[in-house]
Amino acid sequence: MQDYKVLIDEKTVKDRIAEVGAQIRKDFEGKPILAVCVLRGAVVFYADLIRHLPKTTGLDFIAAKSYGSGTTSTGEVALTKDLSEPVRGRHVIIIEDIVDTGVTLTYLKKLLLAREPASVSVCTLLDKPSRRKVELVPEYSCFTVPNEFIVGYGLDYAEEYRTLKDVCILEPWVYQKD
Ligand code: 5GP
Ligand code: MG
Repeated sequence: MQDYKVLIDEKTVKDRIAEVGAQIRKDFEGKPILAVCVLRGAVVFYADLIRHLPKTTGLDFIAAKSYGSGTTSTGEVALTKDLSEPVRGRHVIIIEDIVDTGVTLTYLKKLLLAREPASVSVCTLLDKPSRRKVELVPEYSCFTVPNEFIVGYGLDYAEEYRTLKDVCILEPWVYQKD
């Protein structure tokens, strides 16, 4: 039995990323960008998006863990890997795979804002606004998705499915059995 189904195919994703990348280029013209990838889920999206950004764009990586198991989170966040670059005076764009409850990004935004950047904005591949627990509106969002568990294009279920080329919905029987 197939354990996932395609929600957004690879070509549609790549075309939309090009559009959002062009918008960011325009909005930040002449401004120094630090593109911050939230590990690990955002890596595929990040690699696609940064190739639409100016050559002066700096790259850095951060990781946060939200406690919980399976497909739900408890709302507690901890930093597991910090940036290597200073953010002071730079325009930070946090690049994330999916905004769900909004708790992770609220935490990361607050953390980075305390380091006095010129600005902090959020660019997400996917937005699941129906599940929001805190008010968080990403400045850039490629697609709004329904309240389903998404895998592929970097997003995992128990560290698997990240390598799927399309954005997919995981069939509920896969995670409902545990
Ligand atoms: P938050 O609930 O804090 O907005 O999202 C925290 C993290 O939960 C996301 O960065 C992502 O790693 C994970 N997450 C939320 N919804 C999904 C989903 O549908 N699929 C996958 N694979 N991860 C998700
Ligand atoms: Mg994530």
